[in-house]
Amino acid sequence: NPALSQLGTDMSRLSGVRAIMKDIIETLRAGAGQTFINLSAGNPVILPEVEQLWRDCTTELLASSEYSEVVCRYGASQGYQPLIDAIVQDFNQRYGLNLSDRHILITPGSQSLYFYAANAFGGYTASGELRKIVLPLSPDYTGYGGVTLTPEALIAYRPELEIDQENHRFKYRPNFNQLQIDEQTGCVIFSRPCNPTGNVLSDDEVNKIATLAATYDVPVLIDSAYAPPYPALNFTDMTPRFGGNVVHCMSLSKAGLPGERIGIAIGEPEIIHTLECFQTNLCIHSPRYGQAIAARAIQSGRLAEISTNVIRPFYQHKIEIVEATLDRSMPRTLPWYLHRGEGAIFAWLWLDELPITDWEFYQALKQVGVIVVPGSTFFPGLREDWQHKQQCLRISLTGTDLELQTAMERLAQVAEQVYGR
Ligand code: PLP
Repeated sequence: NPALSQLGTDMSRLSGVRAIMKDIIETLRAGAGQTFINLSAGNPVILPEVEQLWRDCTTELLASSEYSEVVCRYGASQGYQPLIDAIVQDFNQRYGLNLSDRHILITPGSQSLYFYAANAFGGYTASGELRKIVLPLSPDYTGYGGVTLTPEALIAYRPELEIDQENHRFKYRPNFNQLQIDEQTGCVIFSRPCNPTGNVLSDDEVNKIATLAATYDVPVLIDSAYAPPYPALNFTDMTPRFGGNVVHCMSLSKAGLPGERIGIAIGEPEIIHTLECFQTNLCIHSPRYGQAIAARAIQSGRLAEISTNVIRPFYQHKIEIVEATLDRSMPRTLPWYLHRGEGAIFAWLWLDELPITDWEFYQALKQVGVIVVPGSTFFPGLREDWQHKQQCLRISLTGTDLELQTAMERLAQVAEQVYGR
């Protein structure tokens, strides 16, 4: 094996969710004969209407003279012009904005966007000062754990918990007494709606964070992978925020195109330019085939329509099944709390006073044929000890109705045994 640099070592580390995914793959492989209800997936369900949309856009592209220009040519780093134009037009009309094409960057998936931003704005400055990458509310997307080349720059903040004892529900709130955004902050990142919790930060909370950051000219990347207008996986009202130091970051992965790798950043031209330069060095530009079909889907309004009429109701129904089944089967006397299901494609369960760790609970669930993801992997950047980190589970809403119901019933039985009361 070749000797690795410090960076090579950091990047190869089997950390967080990758360790769990390895365990899950091995479990599924070893358990030949045993059937598992696998609720670990972050992969969205392939919905027939959504697949048809992408097939139709592909057929149209193949039939047009545009095809050779798209597939047989290099393009601009910033992205494929018809896609950029479609986004400018759609967002200006939808949100009354005044965007030009200089406000847009297309990236190969949104993960890459966070990688560019974390390293362009976070890490050491030329004079050796450490600029932090701030995650204002932990837990958040596990993928933020690997985006920085300067791991010590990543810092996450423990939230406040709003608990509804009676109804076994809770919600995370940013703790503004603790949250530090100042001249040592390089950028701020959070997902809204949130993977893993389904939380949607309120418009007020977003304004507060953005305003605080604006004081120090700090870019705020709002990860809108589940937000409106596409894939519109919000089950509660939310207003996307644009302008100033805010970068609205989108992904088409949850709108049926995870394999095509399309991320979209909307922000002020100076910030967009910085990210674009990073991209040119890294990979020149995003693949153009996916961009060309996305341009058609957005320009025609079909993507927005399918998002609100098909994608959102599908997952909203799933969270309702999880809620109803847990309410019916979990012992009332146990201190379990489901996070308010406000969006995304996951349910987040907190088992307070859990006598074992989340990892052990995950193992116990495997014994009854159910796979979820232990919650402790979703606290990147949160270094402090906090029992809560070992008390949560992420449950993917990608199962069938029956699978979700059966899995939650089994989970309730395991919980009853584990708590022993
Ligand atoms: N952000 C969030 C909150 C996600 O859940 C995901 C994927 O699951 C991503 C970003 C990365 O998405 P992609 O790189 O496919 O756009």
